[in-house]
Amino acid sequence: MFEVKNIKDTALVDNPVIERMSQYNHEQLLFCNDNATGLKAIIAVHNTTLGPALGGTRMWAYNNELEALNDVLRLSRGMTYKNSISGLNLGGGKAVIIGDSRKDKSEALFRRFGKFVNSLGGKYITAEDVGISPQDMTWVNMETDHVVGLPGKSGDPSPVTAYGVYMGMKAAAKVRFGSDSLSGKKVAVQGVGHVGEYLVAHLTKEGAEVFISDIHEDTLKAVAQKYGAKVVDLDEIYEIDMDIYAPCALGATVNDDTLSKLKCSIIAGAANNQLRDEAVHGLAVKDRDILYVPDFMLNAGGVINCYAEVKGLSADWAMTKAEEIYNRTIDILYRSSEEGIPTYKIANAMAEERIQSMGQVKLPL
Ligand code: NAD
Repeated sequence: MFEVKNIKDTALVDNPVIERMSQYNHEQLLFCNDNATGLKAIIAVHNTTLGPALGGTRMWAYNNELEALNDVLRLSRGMTYKNSISGLNLGGGKAVIIGDSRKDKSEALFRRFGKFVNSLGGKYITAEDVGISPQDMTWVNMETDHVVGLPGKSGDPSPVTAYGVYMGMKAAAKVRFGSDSLSGKKVAVQGVGHVGEYLVAHLTKEGAEVFISDIHEDTLKAVAQKYGAKVVDLDEIYEIDMDIYAPCALGATVNDDTLSKLKCSIIAGAANNQLRDEAVHGLAVKDRDILYVPDFMLNAGGVINCYAEVKGLSADWAMTKAEEIYNRTIDILYRSSEEGIPTYKIANAMAEERIQSMGQVKLPL
């Protein structure tokens, strides 16, 4: 079921949709168009073995439809793995709306999108992602109940995400340095937005020496002042003397260029898809003796928070569940070292094993 089909590039060009779906065994795609509101969106359901597919909606000005298709396929698969390894009874899905989030939003567009989500009858549950605000989701919610992360409900998932990242970072420190204390450790946090700022708060409280970068000067200054963190330039962050690199901005920052500069012992951050090429850079970090904590396992606090809303569980339950990331990190890092396998592969296998074994469960009639 999880075998990756090796598809020739020519086949992908000739059959851009179904062949791409079959590569990672996606279940369903819904292409959404509405001329009146300008809505152009794709909803991807990757796998529903464990439950309804939950994953956010991203609004982004993609250069073309193929870019949007690739993004939604990759992100929805990531949600299947994240939900599985976190022990949630949720499948993986994601949606993308093609458009500029600063110019193309309207109530009508989001309500039309909500109707498309509703047409899937609960197979896909949506939430916020990049470019989407709580207000947008309130409009989606006017047309469907299959939405989480609404204002007044489980709210901003970032504090829970940051707490899970902090827990996993401490666990990695225990494995690497023999103690999980981050006091005196040099930690570079790249991107101090929602998650990054909460992470900086945990780190400075514990006495870590924190370095930060961000493309927005005002955000950077405010966080530096509030927590006494040291500001570094955007590119300098890869080169500074540090113990831990915490990518909390964009994906793909662990690549050939940065790996030649990074002098850290641990990579542990909130960003999705940190390894530019999973197979290449997942192995490269191991070869350089850097402990890479798999991103989809580490940053699951946000979806744990959403799950609490779906199931009517408390905020305390979500924090306790996010704390499990500590032991899961230890487990993955030890298994990686004992078996000589890169950490990303161990995490992928753990996620796949749970889906496969739960797929065997036949509920009694
Ligand atoms: P955010 O947009 O609030 O913060 C990202 C920050 O990164 C912004 O301040 C932005 O200015 C900065 N940034 C962008 N490019 C940068 C660069 N090249 N160098 C330095 N800084 C840069 O987003 P967020 O909600 O804090 O999420 C951060 C990351 O974590 C994203 O990759 C997101 O997908 C992932 N994530 C977030 C959550 C969550 O609960 N919010 C959950 C799981 C994963």
